[in-house]
Amino acid sequence: MTYGDAMSRTDVINPANGERFTTVPSLGLEETDAAIERASQAFAGWRQVAPGDRARLLRRFAAVVDQHIEELAQLEVRNAGHTIGNARWEAGNVRDVLDYYAGAPERLIGRQIPVAGGVDVTFHEPLGVVGIIVPWNFPMPIAGWGFAPALAAGNTVVLKPAELTPLTAIRLGELALEAGLPPGVFQVLPGKGSVVGQRFVTHPAVRKVCFTGSTEVGKSIMAGCAEQVKRVTLELGGKSANIVFADADLEAAAAAAPGAVFDNAGQDCCARSRLLVQDSVYDKFLALLEPAVRAFRVLDPADESAEMGPLISSGQRSSVAGYLDGADVAFRGSAPSGGGWWFPPTVLLAHSATDRHWREEIFGPVVSVLPFRDEADAIRLANDTEYGLSGSLWTRDVGRALRVSRAVETGALSVNSNSSVRYWTPFGGMKQSGLGRELGPDALLSFTDVKNVFFSMGD
Ligand code: NAD
Repeated sequence: MTYGDAMSRTDVINPANGERFTTVPSLGLEETDAAIERASQAFAGWRQVAPGDRARLLRRFAAVVDQHIEELAQLEVRNAGHTIGNARWEAGNVRDVLDYYAGAPERLIGRQIPVAGGVDVTFHEPLGVVGIIVPWNFPMPIAGWGFAPALAAGNTVVLKPAELTPLTAIRLGELALEAGLPPGVFQVLPGKGSVVGQRFVTHPAVRKVCFTGSTEVGKSIMAGCAEQVKRVTLELGGKSANIVFADADLEAAAAAAPGAVFDNAGQDCCARSRLLVQDSVYDKFLALLEPAVRAFRVLDPADESAEMGPLISSGQRSSVAGYLDGADVAFRGSAPSGGGWWFPPTVLLAHSATDRHWREEIFGPVVSVLPFRDEADAIRLANDTEYGLSGSLWTRDVGRALRVSRAVETGALSVNSNSSVRYWTPFGGMKQSGLGRELGPDALLSFTDVKNVFFSMGD
């Protein structure tokens, strides 16, 4: 879309050196309403595009993203401080999610239900305009998880990136047009949450809001959507547990634990930021963990070997640092000094499950460690949180793996690994970590409403 000349602009800062390197428009209410109106008008045509043609356009969009992986990745390194390795994966994830949901238009299959006196058929109707609100921590994947299934189901999309990280989303909006998506079908609207994001909630033409961000803002979005019984998907905060049993491969669990929480500088809703270790191996595990933490490579994110970059902003760094006040620091890794919002990987010892750093989402490279006695204690401690997004457990006992994975209240769990996301499996939170699921085979239907039609056979 074109943004016009009149609106204000926001600075974009490189978090690795703290320097402003560009500005982007910040849309006001009028521009937002105009974009929603365009999306509303484009909906009539987009929903009529034949399934095979819509699939082809999405595949073409995926192919154009593929041709721009390196450009998108470099933009993310500069704008969000993501390591180049992660940023390439993230751009590739947008391509893959588009390809995956490109298979959907031709498979959006309803039912024929036996009834007396006629034929009964269900249709999965698109909703209309879908508003997607994206946080700053994973600008590309989270955008794609929303817009790819929404478009595949026949909706048009308005997407608001986070104020701090708008560049890749704006570029994806341009690439969609380059791929041949009709104007108005997918628009990226940079601006403030309180203006553009809030308008998605209040504008009656926006029929669903997909929100990823903090639990606090998510609750206000849900309350706002209730006014119009607007559909809403929420992906919110997390405080996930990484549970290490005494019978686990301790070397493997300790080697993997830093990546499970320090990846993306801990600014990950799935970060395993509560490390629960069985008391009989607690000392041994910490001894294995320490060299792994010290070896974690915190470098200029453009360096090919970097495992972690800076935090997103100075405000985020102050907020993370605040959790160390009065805390028992076990050991820390290293980080570059000088400009930028650097913070070294940090391991804290929790002395009780009431410690603030144990309970609150820190969203930085900080992990808290607490010992547990037995399986029941581990489950109780893991569930003692309002969150329930992700988590891991490490054990060689298959029965225990099954029991504990069923008992931990969380939307995604990994046994003997720390992976959370595959685009073809469901992702989302239990409890206050969210509502609804993204990705996988089910997400598509959440961008539709079921319509039931009865055809009478007459007399
Ligand atoms: P945030 O809630 O401050 O902002 C998220 C988005 O909402 C931004 O685009 C922002 O501009 C917008 N926004 C803010 N106020 C708004 C309002 N009143 N109305 C409409 N939109 C508004 O969150 P953040 O700091 O950008 O992101 C960090 C949070 O996101 C963490 O809590 C993290 O756990 C969560 N998160 C969750 C997932 C998940 O899948 N569950 C994924 C990534 C991040």
